[in-house]
Parts: sequence; structure tokens; C-alpha cells
Amino acid sequence: MITTYLAVTLITLLLMAVYNIGILSENLYSEKTMKLYAKANIISQSASAVWDANDDRVMYLRLEDTTDRLLAGTSIRGVVTNTSYTVLYDNHRAANMTGKVFMRDVIKRAIDGEQADTVFEADNGSTLAVAVPIEFNGEVIGGVYLAENLSSVTDTIGTIKASLLVFSLLLLFVIVLISIGISYIITHPIAEFTEVARAISRGDFTKRAKISGVREMAEMGQALNFMCDELNALEEKRKNFVSDVSHELKTPMAGIKLLCDSLVQAENPDMDTIREFLNDMSEEIDRLTRIINRLLTLSRLDSGADMNLSKVDVSALCEGVVESLRKIAHEKDIELVYESSDIEARIIELDYDKIYECVYNIVVNAINYTPDGGHVKTRVKYESELCIIEVEDDGPGIPDGEKLKVFDRFYRLDDSRARDTGGTGLGLAITKEAVLLHNGTIEVTDAQTGGSVFTMKLPVTEPGKE
Ligand code: ADP
Repeated sequence: MITTYLAVTLITLLLMAVYNIGILSENLYSEKTMKLYAKANIISQSASAVWDANDDRVMYLRLEDTTDRLLAGTSIRGVVTNTSYTVLYDNHRAANMTGKVFMRDVIKRAIDGEQADTVFEADNGSTLAVAVPIEFNGEVIGGVYLAENLSSVTDTIGTIKASLLVFSLLLLFVIVLISIGISYIITHPIAEFTEVARAISRGDFTKRAKISGVREMAEMGQALNFMCDELNALEEKRKNFVSDVSHELKTPMAGIKLLCDSLVQAENPDMDTIREFLNDMSEEIDRLTRIINRLLTLSRLDSGADMNLSKVDVSALCEGVVESLRKIAHEKDIELVYESSDIEARIIELDYDKIYECVYNIVVNAINYTPDGGHVKTRVKYESELCIIEVEDDGPGIPDGEKLKVFDRFYRLDDSRARDTGGTGLGLAITKEAVLLHNGTIEVTDAQTGGSVFTMKLPVTEPGKE
């Protein structure tokens, strides 16, 4: 990242410097050239006014008078020639060319009637030379040649180049510092996230990312930590579930083993004893089968089991459940009723078998956990696009602290009583999963009689209305 930043900055600075220096030197050179032309033209006009072709000496003095004044205090060399390139005046004291031939390309072009300029390398550095014609009555009678050393311009450009270099280096330094800062702000949290992700892939969900850096990074960190929390909770649940399953399966297996061992060790057991032992064994096997079947049901629901939707009259379904359990209720002298409502029965779309099992689990629980002689009522009602199934009993009820837990897997309020009823601790867990698959809710509240009310709410999706 830093390298990219630096490369981009360097290229930008370089382009900026080349462009600016180019423009600046062009301006400086053209300004110099214009000034030199202006001076040459003034000399040309003065020369034209005082022109005397017959007397070189007089001519020299007249030109010296005007030209010296104009070039005083400058380092400009001024030469005036006639059309045969013979120098009439030269302001250079040491290498004075007066009377000699002074042939230069620019003067030649001036004699030809045009203004000309050029830059050439002299012993003392770059030099700018301009030449303009001297005209009299529309005829070229000579030429003015001015040459000026460009050291002042090259010096100025050199100074600007040096300043630009220092400025660029300073800027580069500041950019390096800023990019190191930015990359630290961005890459540091990313490195931490990577560390957490690696820990997750190793199955370690306890690592958390530090919430710091810019807002986006902090949000990313929060999301990652939230995911870790969820994974951790899921892993905990999975571990507990495996240990619960092992525990639940171990109990009947131990029972069967004990019965087998006792039978093997018994000396000449009679037929009745053998039958009694085998009966007990069969009961334990039934219990194992019940647990395994319920676990299979749960695992099907967990995997988002295929929903077999059909048009169902929920009132008829609940009535059917109540009827199928009437015999068991009768054995406990429990009054089991289905309270039909006046509301017109509605046909809604749901998975018949799954909801039948849900209602069955709740009603069978109500019968099992209500003491002999109690009452269990089932009713169905419809409220704002919800189908509500209520099962109320006047049993012992469920304490507030346990109301949510009873829907957990293998959770039993009273272990021994629940086992006596043949309970696996999975009935309500299965019920909850099936209800959730229908996008519904289930809860348990206290009944006025002191017992419990289980309430299932299913969204009404009437056939053809979706
Ligand atoms: P189980 O197979 O043990 O009945 P459930 O998941 O159906 O398992 O129920 C979990 C626990 O909730 C039961 O063991 C019982 O303690 C409690 N429970 C369920 N229904 C009732 C009820 N109607 N009255 C009192 N306790 C109940």
C-alpha cells in the first residue's frame, strides 16, 4: 500500500515539476526576448534618425550617444552594422568590432528585412541574440544586433528547481508518514480479524477482535465478534446436546445390561422369571426406541425438513387429537374437552402431521402432568391473521424461571416424574421446532386455575390468498 502511494505521489510530483519548470522557463525566455527586441527597435529607430552613410566617425559618435544610454547598466552587447555587415558601432570595449565585418545568421535575416532571435552557447554560458533591421524610407540600410547572457534566467530556473526539489522531498516525507499512519489504521485491524478468523477455522470460538479503528473497521469487528458469540453458543449447545444424548441412551442401555446379567447369573430360572426379565428388557428397549425416534424427528426438523403443506381445518385436527387421547385421560379420570368456538372454521395451509404432533405433545403432557381427576381443555381461535391453539390444564403449573427452559432439549422439571410418564424431554423441543418452521410462536403461561396454558400461534396462510 505504501509503495503504491509513494509511486503515485512521485509520478505526480515529477509531472508537476516538469510541467511547471517548462512553463516558467518559456515565460522567462519570451519575456527576455521581448525586452531585447524592444531595445533593439529603439536603437534601430534612433539609428535611422541619425543615419549618415558618408562619415563613419560621426555615425559612431551619434550611435554611441543613443545606444550607450539605452544599454547602460546592463550586460547587453549592442552592435550596429550596415548592409555589408561592417560594424558601425559596438558597445563592447575590449573586443570592439567597429570597422570590421560582423556576420551572424540573425543579422543576415535582419538585413533581409525580418526580426530574428536565437539562443547559442557562448564561453560564458547560454546567450540570447536578437537582430532587427534599420530602415530608411522603406529600405533596409543596416541592422541592430543585441546579445544578452541568460545566466540570470538559468539562475532563476535553477533556484526554482532546487526549491521544488526541497518542497517535493518534504511533501514525500509527509506523505510517507501519512501513508504509514493510514496503513496502520487499516491493516492493523485486518491483521487482527485474520487472526480471529484463523482461530474460528481451528474451532476456537473464544477469540475476539479489538473494536478500534475507523467506523467501518469497528463495525466489521463488531460483526465478527457477534459471529464468534453465536458460534460459541452453538458449539456449547452442540456439546451439551451430545452429552445429553449419551446420557439419555446410557440409562436404558444400563438397564438392559443389568437385566441380561441378572438373567445369565440366575441358576435355573423358571419361565415366569425369564418372562418378567424379558418384559422389563422390552420396556427399556421401547424407551430407547422412543428416544431415538424423537431424536430422528428433531434432526429432520433441524435440517429444515421438507414441509408437506396441505389445506387443514385446525379445529378438526385438534378435535382428532383430543379424541385419540380420550382413553388415556379416562384412565387418569381426567376430564378432557375440546371447546368448540362459534367462529366459522377456517381452512389454512400447514403441514398436517407436524402440527398434529405438536398438539398431541402438548395435550399428552397436560394429561401426564395433571393429577388424577384434573381437567384439560383444548380450544382454537382466530385473531388478526393468527390461528391460536390453546391447551389449558389445572396441573402443578410451571414456575416462571422454567417457562422458557421447558422448550430446551432434554429439559425436564422433575426428572423422575417425567421419566415415570415415559417422557424423553424432547416433546416440547420438537413442538417448538415444528412451530418455528411454520413461522409461528409457542409460549407457556399460568392458567387461572394454577395450571399451565400452552399457546401456539400460527400465521394464517389461507389457500389461494398468498
Ligand atoms: P417430556 O417428554 O419429559 O414430557 P417435554 O419436552 O414434553 O418432555 O416436556 C418437558 C418438561 O416440561 C416435562 O418434563 C415437564 O417437566 C414439563 N411440562 C411439560 N408440560 C407440562 C404441563 N402441562 N404441566 C407441567 N409441566 C409440564
